[in-house]
Amino acid sequence: MKIKKLLKIEASDQSVTIKGWVRTKRGSKNISFIALNDGSTINNIQVVLEGNNFSEDLVKQITTGSSLIIEGILVPSKGNKQPIEVLAKKINVLGGADAEQYPLQPKKHSLEFLREKAHLRFRTNTFSAVFRLRHALTFAVHKFFNEKGFFSLHTPIITGTDAEGAGEMFQVTTLNLEDLPKNKTGNIDFTNDFFGSKTNLTVSGQLEAELGALGLGQVYTFGPTFRAENSNTSRHLSEFWMIEPELAFADLHECIDLAEEFVKYCIKYCIDHYADDLQFLNKRMSDEEAKLKKEDRSEMGLLERLQFVLENDFLRITYSEAIDILKNSKPNKKKKFKYLIDGFGADLQSEHERYLVEKKFKRPIVITDYPKEIKAFYMRINEDNKTVRAMDILFPEIGEIIGGSQREERLDKLKERMTEMDICEKELWWYLETRKFGTCQHSGFGLGFERLIMFVTGMKNIRDVIPFPRTPQNANF
Ligand code: ATP
Ligand code: MN
Repeated sequence: MKIKKLLKIEASDQSVTIKGWVRTKRGSKNISFIALNDGSTINNIQVVLEGNNFSEDLVKQITTGSSLIIEGILVPSKGNKQPIEVLAKKINVLGGADAEQYPLQPKKHSLEFLREKAHLRFRTNTFSAVFRLRHALTFAVHKFFNEKGFFSLHTPIITGTDAEGAGEMFQVTTLNLEDLPKNKTGNIDFTNDFFGSKTNLTVSGQLEAELGALGLGQVYTFGPTFRAENSNTSRHLSEFWMIEPELAFADLHECIDLAEEFVKYCIKYCIDHYADDLQFLNKRMSDEEAKLKKEDRSEMGLLERLQFVLENDFLRITYSEAIDILKNSKPNKKKKFKYLIDGFGADLQSEHERYLVEKKFKRPIVITDYPKEIKAFYMRINEDNKTVRAMDILFPEIGEIIGGSQREERLDKLKERMTEMDICEKELWWYLETRKFGTCQHSGFGLGFERLIMFVTGMKNIRDVIPFPRTPQNANF
């Protein structure tokens, strides 16, 4: 029986079999207490070994990290720390863990240290809670869109397009890098490459999702995306997961409504179904923050923050309004920002986003209608011919969590923007076709899945919410 299920049972001498890993063992010659965990829950079950029932040899083999099968009976606990415990009758040590060599000690390990111990990371309270919540969020994403009548669409991971403009791409090739075939003009001859043309790993499934939406009505992608940018921050990965819904017949505001409802739904799902893990992480975050200087601590605890997001509307402002606020803000006037804001046109850096979210409005905000120069070619141009129907959703601590837009559905305007931005029409012919036949108003957004997990778990580094992080100079395991 899984420990999660076991812990909900009332003890009355039932026979049970449990399997798991030893978290701690203490006791004396006559009696030992084992805290056993099987990953199904943050909580351990206490197993009691009465000394004279087991050989000394066997008891010695049981150390932190070893894996056991225990047959015993479920009884009310004699201690007051737990309501029930398992009185062991038969123990099978499947795998010992040499106590001298076992890398995890009962003391707290740093997250950096644990990143190097990929095989044991999953056995810690913090990471098991994070990865159960990652699962919860994955499930909530599919559940939400299914209930809303969206269809999940698998867009390609290998793409022949490199014009999406979302970021630097990783090239995919089977050509011999030591002996590259050249054509008559001296360039690499990609007709000899595996796909007969140059290919990359995708930076977004959006363009393909638009094709799906303009037939299926409402679709969403949920897949890995890759960015070959050398951004070594706590919010960027080279390989991350993105959720990209695309809605036909929807304008920007319907798209923002959907995004807000979606994020709240996912958070609520975790609160309703994974309260134990969230409580653990709530305490963890407040313990961690107690070590910080007062001004660096968050104003709200983790659970409080999640509840706050559920209960409050996201504040919607335009880019121009945001710029005015930033321009007249204290840190701008006192030249505290690294990038000073002097007016319309400036790209918002994370310091500006954080000021707006954490200092000025103290809640999630949606910024719309950015200057066309700093946004992608496919965003719908406004009447002013200066701004586009873009939206970014910014969260406390995380910054940008969602980026989206109403798409330019008018073929002539779209082509104009592509020329302006030097994007090759020939390469995107298949995308332009959607604007020739039955084009319609449509919108969509991209949510960085790991950023959502960071928000829900309170983890401060994006490397700690993905099982096997890929970052510049690191693709271990
Ligand atoms: P940022 O400005 O934070 O680098 P972006 O504007 O380049 O992000 P988009 O192209 O709009 O990102 O991607 C949509 C979403 O994907 C973002 O809102 C963010 O949540 C997430 N995202 C983007 N880049 C990364 C990355 N390198 N690692 C993890 N998540 C990312
Ligand atoms: Mn963005």
